[in-house]
Amino acid sequence: MMRVNKMNHPNEGIKCVVNTCEYYMSGDHCAAEKIEVQPRNAADTQETDCATFIPKD
Ligand code: SF4
Repeated sequence: MMRVNKMNHPNEGIKCVVNTCEYYMSGDHCAAEKIEVQPRNAADTQETDCATFIPKD
């Protein structure tokens, strides 16, 4: 997906523990303006992931 804007505050609708992501904020927040979750037809939680993830520099 397209790279999304990183805000200077948490996206209050999201809890995320992926602290290796560029959008991660301490306190298990996500600062992405929006996220995309994949894949279509997922069978369970394990198979589902955030397509907006970008590794932290
Ligand atoms: S973009 Fe996805 S993986 Fe990265 S902090 Fe936000 S919810 Fe977590």
